[in-house]
Amino acid sequence: MDQQPQPAPQPGTPLMTTCPICHVTIPASFFFCPNCGASLRPAPPVVTMKQQISAYSVSLFLPPFGLWYVWKYIRSGEPKVRRVGIIALVLTVISIIVTIWLTTGLLSSVNQAVNQSLGSYGSL
Ligand SMILES: [Zn+2]
Repeated sequence: MDQQPQPAPQPGTPLMTTCPICHVTIPASFFFCPNCGASLRPAPPVVTMKQQISAYSVSLFLPPFGLWYVWKYIRSGEPKVRRVGIIALVLTVISIIVTIWLTTGLLSSVNQAVNQSLGSYGSL
């Protein structure tokens, strides 16, 4: 009567999981089993600082091409990677708005200059 069955892992505790190889209970956040070293889930995709900087600068300075990074990162299941895509998207939108704003501002000042010179010719 001393041989009691092992208490089953409690359902509804997402913080703990069981190693599929050695059946040891381990925190669900572990990527490797500390007991047998089995890989428990694929390591999350990582965006390096260099990749982030290139994604953000392309988004800022070459707006249409920044959307490629947005598309690449925003589909990721990893929240950190998706955030890079969202920031790249925001930067792309800001850059497009600023570009349009600068272009229309430049055009209206060119128009003013042309009108002024035409006006001065007309008064001669
Ligand atoms: Zn294990």
